[in-house]
Amino acid sequence: MVAPAVDVGELAFGGSEIRQLWSFLDGSIMALDTRQRLWRSWGLCPRHAWGYALAEIEVHGGKPLSTAILYEDLTRRAARVANARLKPWTLIRRQLGSRATCFTCDYIEMGGPTAAVDERDRAMARRVNQRARVAVMLDELLELALHRSCPACLGGAGIICRLHLLDRDRRPPGLPGDLEALATRLRALINSMTTRRTPVGPPERVSWIEALGWFGGWDGLHKLAEGPATPELNPERAHHR
Ligand SMILES: [Zn+2]
Ligand SMILES: [Zn+2]
Repeated sequence: MVAPAVDVGELAFGGSEIRQLWSFLDGSIMALDTRQRLWRSWGLCPRHAWGYALAEIEVHGGKPLSTAILYEDLTRRAARVANARLKPWTLIRRQLGSRATCFTCDYIEMGGPTAAVDERDRAMARRVNQRARVAVMLDELLELALHRSCPACLGGAGIICRLHLLDRDRRPPGLPGDLEALATRLRALINSMTTRRTPVGPPERVSWIEALGWFGGWDGLHKLAEGPATPELNPERAHHR
């Protein structure tokens, strides 16, 4: 059966989710203790990993720079975990599982933040949920992204995602090399977005989507491909339904 490994819910984010993700975008994701926990949890949960990337693209600079930096780091670490030839697959699989909870989920669960949400958070959430910039990116990248998706999630020809690997009894061939290649594409994407500005093509530009899909399953892309769920954000779609 082909189905995304987890359901990330409707990709419409609330003010408190955006408020927490924004604090990461403001730089706290670079803090060492934060990064150490993100190593253990393999990034944010699938919903908030997509939320982070969308917030970054829509309201924080227009490109997935911090997303690519975080996921290059995580992808290289995962490649190293997967590359230990003498280690039994059961142990590798366990190490590829999450051992910490998601920051954003914890923040929301604590309950307090709803009171702190202000008009700025709500305005940012509206822009993130409209996804105007991501829609432009997907015009170019959607077909390639679907092709590179997890075969078990969306029937693509890409790397089996981490979440589906956790159910596999056998070591998939080529996994460390596939992850290294993904990390290399992410590095090229990062270089293209920083002062080096080296030119890259669609295989690099799509790499942040591939990384989010590998770590958290491909439901995020599946939902993005459907367009904004709220009819007033997408009147044309509502009209044709
Ligand atoms: Zn979360
Ligand atoms: Zn999958």
